[in-house]
Amino acid sequence: MSSNFPLSDSQLSNLVKDFPTPFYLYDEKAIRENMKRFTKAFSIFPVFCEHFAVKACPNPYILKILADEGCGADCSSLPELILSDLAGIKREKVIFTSNETPASEYKYAFDHRNIINLDDFTHIEFLKNALGGELPETICFRYNPGSEKQGCNSIIGKPEEAKYGLTRSQIIEAYRICKAEGVKHFGLHTMVASNELNPAFFVDTAKLLFELCVEIKEKAGVRIEFVDLGGGLGIPYRPEQKAVDYDEVARGIRAEYDRVLLPAGLDPLEIHWECGRPITGPYGWLITTAIHEKHTYREYIGVDSCMADLMRPGMYGAYHEVTVSGKEDAPKSEVYDIVGSLCENCDKFAVQRPLPKIERGDLIIIHDAGAHGRAMGFNYNGKLRCGEVLMREDGSFKEIRRRETIEDLFATLDLDGVKNFI
Ligand SMILES: *Cc1c(COP(=O)(O)O)cnc(C)c1O
Repeated sequence: MSSNFPLSDSQLSNLVKDFPTPFYLYDEKAIRENMKRFTKAFSIFPVFCEHFAVKACPNPYILKILADEGCGADCSSLPELILSDLAGIKREKVIFTSNETPASEYKYAFDHRNIINLDDFTHIEFLKNALGGELPETICFRYNPGSEKQGCNSIIGKPEEAKYGLTRSQIIEAYRICKAEGVKHFGLHTMVASNELNPAFFVDTAKLLFELCVEIKEKAGVRIEFVDLGGGLGIPYRPEQKAVDYDEVARGIRAEYDRVLLPAGLDPLEIHWECGRPITGPYGWLITTAIHEKHTYREYIGVDSCMADLMRPGMYGAYHEVTVSGKEDAPKSEVYDIVGSLCENCDKFAVQRPLPKIERGDLIIIHDAGAHGRAMGFNYNGKLRCGEVLMREDGSFKEIRRRETIEDLFATLDLDGVKNFI
């Protein structure tokens, strides 16, 4: 568990009177403090930019807080681009790292002067057609190192089996072609990790990209101006795990920067990230109430939320720390499955988890849910997704997304038309 829940039992009990469970709670102060730490660590580079991965927490209030801390955005769809605009993120700080992208979305990104990150060699021609025959002044390419990059973890899988990015020979040719077409500024991107906690992994990725920058300069005559290390910096979901030391990652990357880039005359090179998880993950919690208990072959606690609000445990068996408000120090005398109401047996927030004795009405806190939490929600089984509450720095609370209503769910249906049908 990477974070301390900011509210006492009595504070939380008061909060749920105004905002009935389930809901997400985010801690503005903690988000800002973490972002400052992250930025400070990477200020040892001439230019640093974090493009917050909007998919992790697509709420304009959160984006606005991050923009205020200097963040840009990483988007992969038109709605994410629009949301970043609405949140006031500077256009040139928005990178469009999409794949299988429709022409209209490239056009929007181009018209808004966002950075376009291409996922394939053939997309140069596709982009050119989408933009009526021209290419943007700045282009980035996503590199897939294939079997060159070892030790990738199970969520992201092996690079050579991943659908993303260009091969080494393709990418060099891609820069050569774009240069000939008149493109002026170039970036290089990769993303080969997900929820990785080992600092050495990122240092190794940076080394790989820096060496590729040198090769691109030699073979294509193109000077890369920024390297985007993607996302994938992990968070300690489990109590025994340790948070990534940003300074250690930054110092390690700086050593490779000095070793590889300085002698090649590639300094200054901008360092960019597209992190989502470490930026908001530890500072968001799903708050839910125990409403049922069931004693069969196992002990079950049924809560008023379900995997439609947080699908990570159900989808990939992800671990989220669970605590019971007011019982933080109570002995873990029971073993429970904490389950939601979906008609799918994977709808379990925790499986065979030692926890204190839970009574109906207890408030259950599901930790580290601030990234890829509410964002991944869905409406299967007619489930209405919960809302989001922000705890401001002064301790006040603001609802930053209301919960869904049945009207929202039915909004795409033709309820009038069906009355006269058959
Ligand atoms: C998901 C994603 C990210 C963010 O990943 P985190 O693990 O949340 O940091 C960044 N870039 C791309 C291209 C992604 O797909």
